[in-house]
Amino acid sequence: MKCRKCSRKAVINMRQHKLGLCKDHFLEWVPQQTQRFIEKYKMFPRDAKVLVAVSGGKDSLALWDILHRLGYSADGLYISLGIDAGINYSGESRRMSENFARQRGLQLQVVDIQQEYSTSIPELAETTQRGKGKPCSVCGLVKRHVMNRIALESGYDVLVTGHNLDDEAAVLFGNTLNWLSGYLRRQGPVLEASPGLVPKAKPLCRCYERELAAYALLRGIEYIYEECPHSVGAKTIYYKELLNQLEADRPSAKLSFYLSFLNAKKEGLFAQQKEELTTELNTCQSCGQLTSAPGTCSFCRLIEKVSPDA
Ligand code: SF4
Ligand code: ZN
Ligand code: ZN
Repeated sequence: MKCRKCSRKAVINMRQHKLGLCKDHFLEWVPQQTQRFIEKYKMFPRDAKVLVAVSGGKDSLALWDILHRLGYSADGLYISLGIDAGINYSGESRRMSENFARQRGLQLQVVDIQQEYSTSIPELAETTQRGKGKPCSVCGLVKRHVMNRIALESGYDVLVTGHNLDDEAAVLFGNTLNWLSGYLRRQGPVLEASPGLVPKAKPLCRCYERELAAYALLRGIEYIYEECPHSVGAKTIYYKELLNQLEADRPSAKLSFYLSFLNAKKEGLFAQQKEELTTELNTCQSCGQLTSAPGTCSFCRLIEKVSPDA
């Protein structure tokens, strides 16, 4: 197959876009597409101070690389969760993130949960869930809290994450299967600022995972190949497999599923609900972040369970 733009040998054939590109044109095309989505969904302006949540995986490091190449002022935030599970997952992913930043002269903030809160995600999950179930809900709560705190404290305009189209389509699939209207209402390329919450954006939400893997490889980005050990058996992985089967028969099925959803939202699918869900916010007595709970926020209550004197 030949490159659509220069007739050299294509390194990637993207059936979903009916497009084959050589290495140089593919490495130009990915940032161009990303810039197009940043503008289309009004994610953030050119001069925004951007904080990139990096995990050491290909998507978040590719996103940081793309934003850097596009000329954005983008710093990284890595949260060390204390997950080992026999493969030193947190240690390796931290090393990848730090190497990436050092090699490119970029600023990376590291928040080590163990150092800051004298606990780890597995320990928090063990204490609060008594060893039952996965630590993912606890982990999600901790990450959201820390990301928001750092973004607000350091004056960032927007927090961006490396969620790709496969991630978004799988989450959408799960939310739709169960008609989780609250989650469906909030899902999208942008989560606008609200009192006490920094705006969030997903600039790669229309990029296939396969495209990002190719981008990382061709850019020579070193990343951690292993997924978090706790993701094994997660429903989103199963949904991704189902959607991959669909995509194999109908190229662009994932993209049209996601885009149809965004169009339906734009046409007011959840407009009514938005007004009904306005909740009163209080200031957490412990950390000062805004919370819908009275007294202390759910993050501080979680930490208190493990370290009552913290
Ligand atoms: Fe956290 Fe679960 Fe993701 Fe692992 S798989 S990083 S525990 S949310
Ligand atoms: Zn070319
Ligand atoms: Zn709090």
